Amino acid sequence: MKHRVIYLLGPEQLELREEPVPEPGEGEILVRIRAAATCGTDVKVFRRGGHPRMLRVPTAFGHELAGEVAESGPGVTGFQRGHRVAVVNSAPCGRCAYCEGGRENLCRDLRYINGAFAEYILIPRRFVEVSTHRLDADIAYELAALLEPLACVVHGIDVCDLRNGSEVLVYGGGPMGLLLTSALAVEGHRVVVADPNPGRLKVARTLGATDAVQVVRDGGEAERLRGLSADGDGFDCTIDATGVPAVWEDALGCVRPGGVVNFFGGCPPGTRIPLDTTLVHYNELAIKGTYHHRPSTVARALDMLSRGTVDPRPLLSAEAPLEGLEEALRSMMAKKALKVVIRP
Ligand SMILES: [Zn+2]
Ligand SMILES: [Zn+2]
Repeated sequence: MKHRVIYLLGPEQLELREEPVPEPGEGEILVRIRAAATCGTDVKVFRRGGHPRMLRVPTAFGHELAGEVAESGPGVTGFQRGHRVAVVNSAPCGRCAYCEGGRENLCRDLRYINGAFAEYILIPRRFVEVSTHRLDADIAYELAALLEPLACVVHGIDVCDLRNGSEVLVYGGGPMGLLLTSALAVEGHRVVVADPNPGRLKVARTLGATDAVQVVRDGGEAERLRGLSADGDGFDCTIDATGVPAVWEDALGCVRPGGVVNFFGGCPPGTRIPLDTTLVHYNELAIKGTYHHRPSTVARALDMLSRGTVDPRPLLSAEAPLEGLEEALRSMMAKKALKVVIRP
């Protein structure tokens, strides 16, 4: 039996291939993909033709997925044919010092899986053991596919160490900025979102942002934004979800004394920002970087999706078959779509 898989061959180069459906070996399962979501990382990877950590071309592509188990290999006990599952895109080793310290996102042997834009995907043993999750019958596949980005958001919020009712400025109204907004609003924080795109600001408001402000694309507006905090002295916490170095600088410039700056959005490799040492020292700023997710944040994200505490539906702009992936990525690049659900 054959199935269709989308490959990334290089910058902006996709190919739809027909391949034999893989057979699950010892400890592996085969998942029939019911929904895969496009994400900002996919756009980045599509543009650049690769990712320093997650994949090297030529490769099967896509990493946010949910579906049903089509077959389980010998030795698999937790999953059987017909089980509805979501699989997150990385699996830590569970044995290194980082894993043992509960910081599995820093695992020295973190493995990634790609190939969500396909009819089937073979889930390797380590992913079956730690990264595959059963889904309640009533959770829609397209929402379950967002388990991974929501888990990153839960981790990103943990890192901020927020007190109840904090004032948070989120830079960037892309899918991650909006998911952050929604999860922060649910926790009762006052969230202000800054983005150049009016359509995205509108979605931010529907997801619970107290305020949504239009900004220019490349930063330089820290003073103005700082003034939007309740007492004008800056936000308790600023989170960058743009991955634009100039915006990182702004995020530093509008946090209050004693506040937290969270660099959540990854900038292009090799980029640097100048740091106002006086500001960081005398204002006792806490500067944090956030990367990826951990099994504990995946579990909490799954719980949030199952209970419907966070409803990411406004992020799903459209649906498309596999053939529509390139157009979907281009509409994201043009800021027309936030996320597109690919139904193989
Ligand atoms: Zn993603
Ligand atoms: Zn490890």
